[in-house]
Amino acid sequence: MADLTLDHVSKFFDDDGSKVVAVDDASVTIEDGEFLVLVGPSGCGKSTTLRMIAGLETVSEGQIRLGDDRMDNKPPRDRDIAMVFQSYALYPHMSVRGNMRFGLEESTDMADGEIDSLVEETAEMLGIDDLLGRKPGELSGGQQQRVALGRAIVRDPEVFLMDEPLSNLDAKLRSQMRTELQRLQEDLGVTTVYVTHDQTEAMTMGDRIAILNDGELQQVATPLEAYHRPANRFVAGFIGEPSMNFFQMEVHGDTLADDSFTYSLSPESEDAVSGSEHVTLGIRPEDVELVADGSADHTYETTVDVVEPMGNENAVYLDFGDESRFVATVGGMRRVEAGETVYAHIPEDAVHLFDAS
Ligand code: ADP
Repeated sequence: MADLTLDHVSKFFDDDGSKVVAVDDASVTIEDGEFLVLVGPSGCGKSTTLRMIAGLETVSEGQIRLGDDRMDNKPPRDRDIAMVFQSYALYPHMSVRGNMRFGLEESTDMADGEIDSLVEETAEMLGIDDLLGRKPGELSGGQQQRVALGRAIVRDPEVFLMDEPLSNLDAKLRSQMRTELQRLQEDLGVTTVYVTHDQTEAMTMGDRIAILNDGELQQVATPLEAYHRPANRFVAGFIGEPSMNFFQMEVHGDTLADDSFTYSLSPESEDAVSGSEHVTLGIRPEDVELVADGSADHTYETTVDVVEPMGNENAVYLDFGDESRFVATVGGMRRVEAGETVYAHIPEDAVHLFDAS
């Protein structure tokens, strides 16, 4: 077992003569046994990163190492990695048993009986031992997903790579499988890189998450760190649902101003903006508080525009009486109606300040 390191890794594609930078100088070390989720919007370079680790794409610049061993120059079969794909990639003509045996027959000199017991043991662990004789076409999506996982697990690799493995499952099964997969990974202790575009999946599954945008790693952090201390505006907007509110503000000494409202800063925060003419002020919807009156600092009179139920909470869209709208998450017990005047408190300790975009 060992750490997996991406050391200044880049990938360039040639698209009809023009250079596409799919991954731009990415460096991260995934600890032995860690579950790292690579997350970002479509086209940001997640799959390319995973495919370089697997050896399905070459590395244009930089190195990939397992422990001290350089692996980016090895063929895929020598990398001791098992990959689980979104499409499961099972062989339709083979039984579940055949699919799970297949990789092992190729790569080990284990005796037939040994392979059989390993397959059976793994199938039992995944709850698919009664399906070993079936073909993939006779299985539900969730069962096929377990077979794909089983096929990766029996190989007992150093690293699991998973490319959106749950995205073809319905919402309920997906959330059940998230928990199961996490538990399994923890039990097996295999270093895992898991790709998803879904920030909820990233936040709930990862020991750490690596947020990618436009080929560049934005932040590698625990989910809580990324939530509470986003490295930049992109991360702040990507993590959290509903998304963080942003206001473009002019800086006038200790006061920030946009067309709708002003926000005065304490001396500590003032330091953070000194020297800037513009900053972006961010506030999470769940940090906006609806209060009884406008007497406290940082409290604004607003009008409720729309109330959107979200289970036991409501997303309440507020405006300052002009076009400037922002959203507050409010507990379901607090009744608010469209058109009502409410006071919104934006506490300073919950405010995030970013370079102006
Ligand atoms: P993601 O998995 O985050 O959706 P990808 O890694 O698939 O993103 O793609 C990253 C970027 O690289 C995209 O702009 C994509 O169009 C480009 N890309 C991926 N594969 C190729 C290829 N074989 N040739 C040219 N461009 C590619």
